[in-house]
Amino acid sequence: MNDIPVCEIPSPADAGATIVCPACGGENPADAIFCASHACHKALGEFDYVLEELEARRGWIEHLADRVTGFAGRPHFVTFHLVWFVIWVLANSGLVAFLSGFDAYPFALLSFILAIEAILMTGFLLISQNRQQAYSEKRAELDYEVNIRSYRKLIELEKRLDALVRAHASNGTKPVDP
Ligand SMILES: [Zn+2]
Repeated sequence: MNDIPVCEIPSPADAGATIVCPACGGENPADAIFCASHACHKALGEFDYVLEELEARRGWIEHLADRVTGFAGRPHFVTFHLVWFVIWVLANSGLVAFLSGFDAYPFALLSFILAIEAILMTGFLLISQNRQQAYSEKRAELDYEVNIRSYRKLIELEKRLDALVRAHASNGTKPVDP
């Protein structure tokens, strides 16, 4: 299985060619640096698309963990629990006439449910955190690779420039001072 997106950059001689964004599939001019789609705006280049690569490998458990931790990180999560606790306590304290209690004080059933929720939530958080860490590591690796490629290109350009200066000097032409 190889559904990891790859960006094909057309050669300079290939006039009128477009770059197809591997993330959203949109067409961009050959000299575009970023995808023209505002929703996407990915950098276009011949390098790994880390987020898409990880997304392609994401299983159902990682997908569920991301959804759960995404919800847990929002204020709705706290609100939901507060409403739940208030209803539970009211229902089991006999304070509301039409609600019959099923979990008397000290609310052992509630404690049991919350303990299970805490265990599952810890698992989901760790799965999601591992994915985030993998993403950060791959991004750092990609940054390093791009830096090395730039460094090599710079050295190559420096050598070519030196050769050009030497060629000019041997022809008797004085090189122009920078
Ligand atoms: Zn795009």
